[in-house]
Amino acid sequence: MTDRVRRVSEAAPRIAVVGGGQLARMMAPPAVMLGIPLRLLAEGEGVSAAQVVPDQLVGDYRDLATLRRATDGCEVVTFDHEHVPTEHLHALEEDGVAVRPGPDALVHAQDKVVMRERMTALGAPQPRHATVASAEDVTEFGLPCVLKVSRGGYDGKGVWVVRDPADVEEPLRVAQERGVRLLAEELVAFRRELSALVARAPSGQAATYPVVATTQLDGICHEVIAPAPDLDPGLAGEAQELALRIAGELGVTGILAVELFETSDGRILINELAMRPHNTGHWSQDGAVTSQFENHLRAVLDLPLGSPEPRVPWTVMVNVLGGPDPDVGRLYDGYPHALARDPRLRVHLYGKDLRPGRKVGHVNAYGEDLDEVLERARHAAAWFRGDLGNESE
Ligand code: ADP
Repeated sequence: MTDRVRRVSEAAPRIAVVGGGQLARMMAPPAVMLGIPLRLLAEGEGVSAAQVVPDQLVGDYRDLATLRRATDGCEVVTFDHEHVPTEHLHALEEDGVAVRPGPDALVHAQDKVVMRERMTALGAPQPRHATVASAEDVTEFGLPCVLKVSRGGYDGKGVWVVRDPADVEEPLRVAQERGVRLLAEELVAFRRELSALVARAPSGQAATYPVVATTQLDGICHEVIAPAPDLDPGLAGEAQELALRIAGELGVTGILAVELFETSDGRILINELAMRPHNTGHWSQDGAVTSQFENHLRAVLDLPLGSPEPRVPWTVMVNVLGGPDPDVGRLYDGYPHALARDPRLRVHLYGKDLRPGRKVGHVNAYGEDLDEVLERARHAAAWFRGDLGNESE
């Protein structure tokens, strides 16, 4: 009998996840549902995902020996962030671990210059851009413009809007210090920012989420409306087709988010690519039939994908950011009011310490009337942040 019966822990493929942030944490609930064990490589004791994934080790993702230990016995490795060195990913592939997304795709989410060059080769719509190495190059490109370090930026860090030649010094210095290239882009006068999200499995199957509208504050994603209100259906289709084409051409496995600018004359331009569950897809946890986290896991295991269709007309996600008060207890003190005021509200907290401006959670509200859903989501996020007099006593 025991010869014929495999135990669950042996039968289910194990997925290694590199990085212990909130994205890895939010992969845990669908992994539990599907009965798929996760193994976490966390950057520190007790970080967000380390609180919920029991099979874990703490170590440096830049060290190949550590990555090998983390992936030992795992069929697949995937990521919470895009910072694992490309050569290590190739080494893991040679060891026989399926790296998903693979290193040749992932480089387009790691390096903005590589991404721009590839998008040009694909004829994809994007802002005018050039790599620059001196103040003269930037002047020649034309001011005002946006300067970005090619690698290592996130949440607007490593992005500068440059209007005056004197502002060029800092970005040039930072790029030089970090040994990365500097990209100049035209300053796009966008109407709003959009995001087109797809999940793609190695079999080629893909699931396309509705295009969403996203608002940034100080370079950090603040609010997402799904689907993007009043978006021309032709433009929405164009954005979805673009995301599908990029996912196919680059051979992406898992979630691909294409961040876009919608210009006032009705065009879309690519801002950047992310190849992992993305902040602009968090609405799908409560607003879609299958969340981006579940579809990411299904995709990296090459399982059939779940439907990305919305369950309700409108879902609004608002991030909860740390305010001036570092007392993390205030978040939980906020529950009685927030949950009683809105029984349809879904709250997601990441188990992180509070620091001003740090993403510590998000709320999803959904319903039939956009204005009402917006008000509910914004109220709850402001309440958790402490902006509405939610004082812990
Ligand atoms: P990060 O990698 O830090 O997320 P992004 O390239 O997405 O950086 O830029 C952060 C934000 O800066 C964008 O969401 C957008 O609001 C603004 N931004 C970036 N590039 C441009 C551009 N070319 N024109 C206008 N605004 C831009």
